[in-house]
Amino acid sequence: MLRYDLHCHSTASDGLLEPDAMVRLAAERGVDVLALTDHDDTAGLAVAGAAAREAGIELVRGAEVSVSWDDETIHVVALRIDPECETLAAGLHAVRSGRDARARRIAAALEAVGVRGAWEGALRYVTSERLISRAHFARYLVEAGYVRDSRDVFKRYLARGLPGYVEHAWATLADAIAWIRAAGGVAVLAHPGRYRIGARGMRRLVAEFRERGGDAIEVLSPSHDADDVARFAALARRHGLKASQGSDYHGPGESFIEPGDLPELPAGLRPVWSSW
Ligand code: AMP
Ligand code: MN
Ligand code: MN
Ligand code: MN
Repeated sequence: MLRYDLHCHSTASDGLLEPDAMVRLAAERGVDVLALTDHDDTAGLAVAGAAAREAGIELVRGAEVSVSWDDETIHVVALRIDPECETLAAGLHAVRSGRDARARRIAAALEAVGVRGAWEGALRYVTSERLISRAHFARYLVEAGYVRDSRDVFKRYLARGLPGYVEHAWATLADAIAWIRAAGGVAVLAHPGRYRIGARGMRRLVAEFRERGGDAIEVLSPSHDADDVARFAALARRHGLKASQGSDYHGPGESFIEPGDLPELPAGLRPVWSSW
């Protein structure tokens, strides 16, 4: 059986490893099929593809699109996209372009509660001039000693309701799925266990996701405990959606699990790769 890991990050967004190093690590860990899914960008895919050919594994070209849905930020993983697709490229460009002003506001919000040098500090961790994320701020806050680790940052500063959080309008769900489909890809609802929208909100989200052409739910994710896995497996079955799995790996020392380190999908699910 092939080992699939369909969600990870590189320095093209907020991962710690260059795209080729990410691919080599996954190959070493026994991954046969890896999707590189950087936030709102496909810039790492060419290098990752070459590294995958060399390592003898399959690279699935992907991205993780930031979406605003009903006041909540959700993520949609795109798999098997053509990164040359103009519609997708323009859409991702638009999503990325809001990030600089948002980051300025995050830095100002942090300064307001006594965090000094947040803008310059975060910039030191940015690895792509195309994209700044909360993960870059998190690394600076850890380095500067404001918190112990990156989990702590999201408990005290950068998550919704906390002093370093700023609202932001990302892509709409309809647009994100349309761009992915225009690029020949499939859309996966990423780590649904993270969204604080209640059971009814979740049913509404999944129904809308499916209606708009979404293909699968990420059932296995380090963001999910055993209950979440069972819950989202049931939701996938009920809505006739396929199931995906990914480590959401960001780099050594920053991730809960290693690339490819995923259990088997629960029974009775159609894997997202079943028709590939
Ligand atoms: P952004 O896309 O700028 O909102 O940043 C989101 C990124 O921040 C995620 O992809 C993770 O890399 C990181 N992140 C968000 N929440 C957490 C958390 N609870 N613990 C650690 N990292 C997180
Ligand atoms: Mn990230
Ligand atoms: Mn995500
Ligand atoms: Mn991710």
